[in-house]
Amino acid sequence: MSELSYWLLRVDNQLVTSLDKTDRNVFPCGFVSDFGNPEKALFVGTWQGLPCYAAELDSLPEKISGEMMPVRSLFSLAGAEVIYLAGRAIQLLDWQKNHQYCGRCSTPTEVKIGELCKLCPACGLACYPRISPAVMVLISRGNELLLARGPHFKPGVFSALAGFVEAGETLEQCAHREVQEEVGIEISNLRYFGSQSWPFPNSLMVAFFADYAGGEINPDPKEIEAANWFLRNALPMLPETVSIARQLIEAACRSKV
Ligand SMILES: [Zn+2]
Repeated sequence: MSELSYWLLRVDNQLVTSLDKTDRNVFPCGFVSDFGNPEKALFVGTWQGLPCYAAELDSLPEKISGEMMPVRSLFSLAGAEVIYLAGRAIQLLDWQKNHQYCGRCSTPTEVKIGELCKLCPACGLACYPRISPAVMVLISRGNELLLARGPHFKPGVFSALAGFVEAGETLEQCAHREVQEEVGIEISNLRYFGSQSWPFPNSLMVAFFADYAGGEINPDPKEIEAANWFLRNALPMLPETVSIARQLIEAACRSKV
């Protein structure tokens, strides 16, 4: 940690970014002493040939001139590599903060050397950073796509259906259950599209195409504000381009899958 490094610093739930935000310079670069020798700094990866560390600070170090930015805003500004590093950094910082004590016997935990593992010295419980898988399904019916909006979406935006995987479920079971619960229709022919880490707080979104197989749209008012079939050439406002939802919908429009 004594060498020149990039630093992903979280202060008050925001990341410190450089004032000059070219893609090479999104995060401040310097020696550990420039950042007040933060305790419990975590190695995140390498970037531009230099190591990257993440740390939680109470306030911005005096020597550092930077701009505080919510990680979500960074996601819509930056390239894939920066998004990966920022997402990994905040998930590791959350893991460090949320597992200071053993959840089984409440003893202070210790870091297992060489692993991202918080180990309880009393009972042996091991806690790794938690990942919560979620499934996204884009349903097609001829030239139409089923899109829906939840109450927390930006005004006018529609997206594919999505929900968290429950304990014991496969991704496929989750896809069928979520679609049935949210809009009351049947699907078939699930095809994998891709996945995306979504660190708000720790999701792994797994996206599929599916075909309509029966039923009428009957939205669950608790989760769905509106759901409709849209022609591929007359879609409503869609989620941001950085999201896998947008990439899934655009892929469906390109290839008619
Ligand atoms: Zn324990």
